Amino acid sequence: MAELRKLAQDVYVFLQPPLVWYSSAGVIIGEREVILVDSLTNAAMTERLRAENSRVTDKPIRYLINTHEHPDHVYTNHLFPQATVIGSQRGRAQTQANQRVQSEHTALFAKYFPDVDFGGGCYTPQAMSFSGSLCIYQGEREVRVLELGPGHSESDVVVHLPAEKIVFCGDVFVNGMPPLPGEGRVTQTIANYRALEALEADLYVAGHGEPGTLADVRAQRIQLEGHVQHARDCFEQGLSYDEALQAFDDDPMPVDFRRLIILASYWEFIGQRPATADPASQNHLTLIQGIANEAKRRRGSKGAGQ
Ligand SMILES: [Zn+2]
Repeated sequence: MAELRKLAQDVYVFLQPPLVWYSSAGVIIGEREVILVDSLTNAAMTERLRAENSRVTDKPIRYLINTHEHPDHVYTNHLFPQATVIGSQRGRAQTQANQRVQSEHTALFAKYFPDVDFGGGCYTPQAMSFSGSLCIYQGEREVRVLELGPGHSESDVVVHLPAEKIVFCGDVFVNGMPPLPGEGRVTQTIANYRALEALEADLYVAGHGEPGTLADVRAQRIQLEGHVQHARDCFEQGLSYDEALQAFDDDPMPVDFRRLIILASYWEFIGQRPATADPASQNHLTLIQGIANEAKRRRGSKGAGQ
């Protein structure tokens, strides 16, 4: 069940198990107002968030920070009309680009994710953008909004509370699943993991799944580095993407995650999407659909409810 979980005094995370598509949101309550980290996939989820939020505060949500432009983190921005929505300049440009092809995205989501409710959601570009970093002060509390740059998304943003030693990681860190590097961006994704580690926080709030620790983030980065090195070895031996996929046959990571990481690696090595005869590797939404199905299988095997 979705829940608002207290992480520190006046700091909460809205958790929505299970993992894929069911993203988290941060709630940071100051003296006068609330800062929200990310909006959600649909209006019903947003209503639950609002109801949970009103159990702990009656202060207005004045700022909404988007960690990145993926729909499950921005799709209900417009349902917070009283809030100033903040994103990185690169993230805002991508949100705008997505908005221009909203009807195509709507059709693709319906095709690839028939089980996911996108009701009441759409892309709404952020009202305020920044590059580098931005600080919001809530009395004595510093809320640092840090742009790590391209990695999982067009530009990954994290929200750091240095006094509380908490970081809202967006999807740089997704707990319970392997890392999800963006297409052609494995080196940058690894760099963003390292930037997270350098913050030396006690709690790393995942974009999806349970909050984790520095050790969890580090373990994921090491896992990703290992897979990217393996892909690089394949590439340097002259193997094609399809051959590299076969070379990972013994890897315990589920095949859809292997596809995503090897494809992102090869894309980076050759500077473009690698050729493939594997139908499941031919478009990004198919890959994500595979990952969503894997998450569903895991959920089923654990018997956990939504
Ligand atoms: Zn994402």
